[in-house]
Amino acid sequence: MAAFVTICVASRGSAQPALTLSVDASQARMKILHASLSMPARSGAVTLVYPKWIPGEHMPSGPISNLAGLHIFADGAELAWRRDLVNMNAFHVTVPPGARVMTATYDYVVPTGGGAFGATASANAKCAVINWNTVVLSPEGEDPDAIRITASLKLPAGWKEAGALDVARVDGDTVHFVPQSMTMLVDHPVVLGEYQKSFVLWPAGSDVGEHVIDVVADSEWAVRFPQTRIDAYKRLVREERAVFGGVGHYRKYHWLLTLSDSLGTFGVEHHETADDRVPENTFVDDAAAKFASLLLPHEFFHSWNGKTRRPAGLINGGFEQPMRDDLLWVYEGLTNYYGELLSARAGLISPEEWFDELAANAMSVSPAGRTWRPLQDTADSAPFLYLSGGGWSGWRRSTDFYKEGSLIWLEADVTIRRLTSGRKSLDDFCALFHGENDNGRIYVKPYEASDVYAALERIAPYTWKDFFEKRLTSKSAELPLGGAANGGYRLVYTDAPNMFLDPPGAGSLNAVGSLGLHITADGTVDDAAPETPAYRAGISNGMKIVAVNGRRFSVDLLSRAIADSKNTRAPMEFIVDNGGYVSVTKIDYHGGLQYPHFERIAGTDDVLTTIARPRLKQ
Ligand SMILES: [Zn+2]
Repeated sequence: MAAFVTICVASRGSAQPALTLSVDASQARMKILHASLSMPARSGAVTLVYPKWIPGEHMPSGPISNLAGLHIFADGAELAWRRDLVNMNAFHVTVPPGARVMTATYDYVVPTGGGAFGATASANAKCAVINWNTVVLSPEGEDPDAIRITASLKLPAGWKEAGALDVARVDGDTVHFVPQSMTMLVDHPVVLGEYQKSFVLWPAGSDVGEHVIDVVADSEWAVRFPQTRIDAYKRLVREERAVFGGVGHYRKYHWLLTLSDSLGTFGVEHHETADDRVPENTFVDDAAAKFASLLLPHEFFHSWNGKTRRPAGLINGGFEQPMRDDLLWVYEGLTNYYGELLSARAGLISPEEWFDELAANAMSVSPAGRTWRPLQDTADSAPFLYLSGGGWSGWRRSTDFYKEGSLIWLEADVTIRRLTSGRKSLDDFCALFHGENDNGRIYVKPYEASDVYAALERIAPYTWKDFFEKRLTSKSAELPLGGAANGGYRLVYTDAPNMFLDPPGAGSLNAVGSLGLHITADGTVDDAAPETPAYRAGISNGMKIVAVNGRRFSVDLLSRAIADSKNTRAPMEFIVDNGGYVSVTKIDYHGGLQYPHFERIAGTDDVLTTIARPRLKQ
């Protein structure tokens, strides 16, 4: 199946190694991309490497297992290659003296699921996402900032390409891109599809510059966005830039938005774009739109926080060296806080819905898990925590630096406002830390935790190092809810649903606040929390609930049984299948349905409503 990829690699030490990369995506529907890479040859031992540590994914997620059909040539003569026994992403060859051009042809077989972020399913019958790190090799040891790649992409007939990558020319079905450094090429994924539509929120030349949502979708129906939603995203651009004093570190910004039920649900950030994937109905269905409302503001925020200002440990000089994820509580925590908040300021959700989102964040952080694993360790462990599945998230903990991070940054915001009697806010920190007066320039500027504390100190003198270190190292079950409390709210549990717990239409039941279980539509317990009624009754991860109170399981039946538990003294009775062994177990629970919300504390200032207010005139 090898296709037509040609690689040209220049010799080490030469100025700007020049590679030509041709990617043939004409068979994207069949989930295979063909590539050809060519470069000037260097005689002797040469090693080609496949990107391993992927920016924005925070782990060694380069999908090496999906690289297939590899052949390497020197002036057309095939060379024998051998994989490195330690670095599985490296291929060694010996190039004969005098060879002029080295070429590699290979395929990227696109998975149908699994994998992390861009390494998951990325092509179907109607659309595809091209992450260039999945289709490129480069000479080992060369700085990707210095490698120059001239890339082209052949599309399936009738499909269109979109994204922030500059196009030099289009030749039939083939798009030829302006040459880029390897770093910048990988930083500019593109989308292609039959149903491709670009929503220009603000055109080039407008006072805020070019901002576009480039959509590909499973259907034409999915791209029929209501005008009110487009208007809200127009406001979002202005509200988000206002946080940074109106300064952006990109020439133009294009969200890549994939609306599909088969290509994953996630976002990965880049300087000028983001690979955002949500279910097909997300932008035409109000509930789905609200559930996903944090995604686009979150990824946009990363253009400043993560791409431009970047933790020093994440700047590894390429794709081969490990990243250190210890500052993800800034990179992702601050971004999670603002992604949710800005969706409220833009009007994608109401302030009350933002409070519910914060409350859902609080419920997601397990008190039991907090007693052994401090928040800092969830960031340190991110390279494997992202992929840890199979339940037990309440005991193991998950990538809590996002959602617990939101609560801590809320507390920082409320603290600044209180210290300065409302004159300053966390927005002022963002403008100072991320918003230098260099609008439109792409660059990376590293930071350490001490730089964050120093910038906060300039906004509002306080013991910021102690503030964060206490919360990052805490092994108390007690959640960091000082932001809610000092902002005029307390966390309560009621039987009113919280829309941010589970995706709409998932058919699952989030009974974590009541029984201590999360249950899929077919009754499978896909997460169970320790020290809860279900845990004490012996119901745990991977078991399947077959019957509730003598009736065959359904989500509705179980939901009603939990609600009715308040009105009876009899325990709930379950029949549970554990790997083929069936047993009867009882849960003596009488608390009814329990969902998290923020409730006003009477007689206090409502700081949270002030925070959620739009900064700009609507
Ligand atoms: Zn993020």
